[in-house]
Amino acid sequence: MSIRCLAIPTPFVVGRVNCYLIEDDPLTLVDAGPNSATSLTALEAALGEHGCKVDELERIVVTHQHIDHIGLVDILATRSGAEVCALDLLAPWLADYKAQMEANDRFSAEIMLRNGIPQDVVHALRAVTASFRAWGAPAQVTRALAEGELLEFDSRRWRVLHRPGHSPSDTVFFDEGSGEMFGGDHLIKHISSNPLISKPLGGQASERPRALMIYLDSLRKTRDMELSVVYAGHGEQVEDHSALIDERFKMHKRRAGKLHKLIAERPRNAYELAQAMWGNVAVTQAYLTLSEVLGHVDLLLDEGHVRQEEHDGVAYFEAC
Ligand SMILES: [Zn+2]
Repeated sequence: MSIRCLAIPTPFVVGRVNCYLIEDDPLTLVDAGPNSATSLTALEAALGEHGCKVDELERIVVTHQHIDHIGLVDILATRSGAEVCALDLLAPWLADYKAQMEANDRFSAEIMLRNGIPQDVVHALRAVTASFRAWGAPAQVTRALAEGELLEFDSRRWRVLHRPGHSPSDTVFFDEGSGEMFGGDHLIKHISSNPLISKPLGGQASERPRALMIYLDSLRKTRDMELSVVYAGHGEQVEDHSALIDERFKMHKRRAGKLHKLIAERPRNAYELAQAMWGNVAVTQAYLTLSEVLGHVDLLLDEGHVRQEEHDGVAYFEAC
């Protein structure tokens, strides 16, 4: 009744994605790699090393909506007949993947323009994200999971917990018996999981979601849990989650302090703040760094250190 980590190659900067084979009844795979022949071949080989074939899979569990985790779900489920388990909020999104990604890109473009990113950069970035879309694929969730529900196996049970922030659908699976947690990208040892600003699941977004604050709330919940290990979506497993989360808290506080100084010099928009922090970044990184800046600005707004002003449809931040 073992847990096997299958590190599957991806074409993305993050490198390999960890899928997990749970040798239990039902035979389960947590996450699937991106939708590519290379990843599928690697996954088949990794399963083979443990004497297992794709068509033997009985359950596929999805941790969140990002393409390096969902791309192969549909192919694997079709070939094996495995049930597909994901958070109930994520199920309609996965079924409607292409339109949802398109809507998310429109949503991101609006946020970029509102925060001072030049039109040509926004256009270039949209072309890049559109070209990435084929690494993901729609998937039919056959078992929608509610927050707090138990997912039963023959010899283990997982508590389903919604921990949004890195993405709106981040779901962790906690084995109350062993203290093990499958964390997806909620907590990664070697990199801080960027809280990307994404279109909220379901419904219309009138306001920009405060992704970092949502993420920090989720981390606080995880920090207070008794965990033996976190199996992460990338990199090594996390043995001491509380210490790692405390490091993340400190890092975010430092970054907010740095931004506060820049804003105190003179009012700036988020794009100018990102440039002051990191210089001219590659187009592909523009949205990442913007999400990062806005996340920390939200902390400063929340604590009353800065306020937001608007000029010509662009948001500027100034010290209080
Ligand atoms: Zn992710």
